[in-house]
Amino acid sequence: MSKIKLLDLQLTNMIAAGEVVERPMGIVKELVENSIDANSKNIIVRVQEGGIKSIQVIDDGYGMDQEDALLAFERHATSKIFKPRDLFSINTFGFRGEALPSIASVSKVTLITNGTKVEIDQGDKVFVGPYPSDTGTDITVAELFYKTPARLKHLKSPNYENSLISDVITKFALSNPGISFTFISDNKESFKTSGNNDLLEVIYKVYGKDIAKSAIEINEEDFDYKLKGYMIQPQYTRATRNAINIFMNGRMVRPYKIQKAVVDAYHDFIPNDRYPIVVLDIIMDTQIIDVNVHPSKWEVRLSKQQQLEYLIKDRLSKLLSKDIVPFSIDIAPVNKEATKVEVMSLLDDFKYEPILSNVPIINEPPVVEEVVYKVEDELKNSEEVVMNAFPSIRVIGQFHGKFILGEGEKGLYVIDQHAAQERVHFEEVSKMMEKGSSKFDLLVPVMIHTSNDVVRRLEELNNIVSDLNIRFETFGDDSLIVHSLPLWLKDVDEQGFLQDLVDYFKDEKEINKLKLHRHKLATMACHRSIRFNRVLSNLEMQQVVDELRNCIQPFQCPHGRPTFVLIEDYYLEREFLR
Ligand code: ADP
Ligand code: MG
Repeated sequence: MSKIKLLDLQLTNMIAAGEVVERPMGIVKELVENSIDANSKNIIVRVQEGGIKSIQVIDDGYGMDQEDALLAFERHATSKIFKPRDLFSINTFGFRGEALPSIASVSKVTLITNGTKVEIDQGDKVFVGPYPSDTGTDITVAELFYKTPARLKHLKSPNYENSLISDVITKFALSNPGISFTFISDNKESFKTSGNNDLLEVIYKVYGKDIAKSAIEINEEDFDYKLKGYMIQPQYTRATRNAINIFMNGRMVRPYKIQKAVVDAYHDFIPNDRYPIVVLDIIMDTQIIDVNVHPSKWEVRLSKQQQLEYLIKDRLSKLLSKDIVPFSIDIAPVNKEATKVEVMSLLDDFKYEPILSNVPIINEPPVVEEVVYKVEDELKNSEEVVMNAFPSIRVIGQFHGKFILGEGEKGLYVIDQHAAQERVHFEEVSKMMEKGSSKFDLLVPVMIHTSNDVVRRLEELNNIVSDLNIRFETFGDDSLIVHSLPLWLKDVDEQGFLQDLVDYFKDEKEINKLKLHRHKLATMACHRSIRFNRVLSNLEMQQVVDELRNCIQPFQCPHGRPTFVLIEDYYLEREFLR
């Protein structure tokens, strides 16, 4: 007798559920995608206990008639593709016809749409009939994984699951500014967008005013791809890649290599362990992108991947160098009453009654309104700031042996002496490397301790550094020795620099000339430059500032930290209650 049997429907759906709906966030994603595919303009997501107790998605899309409302729960039932060719030109989020039957096999689903109600309990239809409702769809998923306790156990705390859902809704809002999203968690509204098709407004909602203000618009294209969105100035960074929002034809994806191209574009501007904030939609012909890679649809394949990586890296880094603006201390609005009380009580302490009537009336700064449409105007103004380039600064002193103080038209400049010198040195070194300089012989050769596997790869190492006029020789089993160095290393601690170079070679498994590019080398050289924290004369400080002004990118040190901050006159005046 044959041992092989066809699985029954409920079982196949449960198996598929394993891939499509791993956790509440996956369900929210599938349901919202269905709402968007149905042309909804307003989508409300309501969850209880991180979606573990219930998830409800209400939309105002075109909904379903009774026949479709039932068919929707059949496996591989979809209104979105019909023939094999359609798989290569997918314009909707859904196409597999798997989500609803999978979800319904592991939960209790109530669907109300265009006057019909359908109830399905762990895969069994328990109710179908007319039900009064508007156009649109209202779907509730409860008792998730009730019959699959192992799955249920796998879920984390409601807070954690809730944060994943919140994240996915944020990404929907960022990729669909024309749709209003409302997220209600445990009966509290936690996020809402207007849906008036203003991406900057959504960025403002998600990341706050300062970040929205510092957004640079992306509008680039080549023959195959269009890049649209905003990139945030590099003074705002995150510790994870989570704020690198990448969409492909509006679809949220996790394309590691594309994220890396974005990070690379910021390379000159932010520290290595930090990540930028970017919202980027990549628009392309549906023929180039294959979305049918995994049931959860997070992964895609592109037929022209490298071209896209190059485009992103090239255009985004150019936009950054063009649009960098200097740092400025942010000024919070003054609370008039609070400040007044403080002044009065101070004066009380001093028993200085008579002057009380002269307490300065604080000149209220323009109220920072919560008005989103203003953001765009402010942005226009900040573009003008960009044109001013490096300010003219007159040095007035040194602070703590570390900071140069200077006055300028806008206020007081505090310059990080070390960062400024690093930037100047970095550009000098880069220039000298560009030209290719001659060598100088070392009186005492430099010896580098390393491991035997590096010593064995000596030829490979020398091949990589040959362009730089550096040549290593073996010295015993685990050491290398260098007899001469290129001229651009003359102000550099050569021992430290060469050690860094060898360590880098050792750690990066697949190092090649491309990877060890000039920027990396120049950064290493600067890092090892003879350190400066010493007292400088005003003349020397003015020289540092003037050299900084002549740099190609004077606003940040090679590691992306600011070289100076500006304390505006206005801020000082306010603090002194003028
Ligand atoms: P897919 O989205 O891959 O087609 P689903 O299982 O997610 O598969 O949905 C099945 C079908 O149910 C869809 O093709 C669509 O016709 C219909 N449907 C699901 N959700 C909605 C909705 N919110 N509004 C209108 N139709 C919907
Ligand atoms: Mg779907």
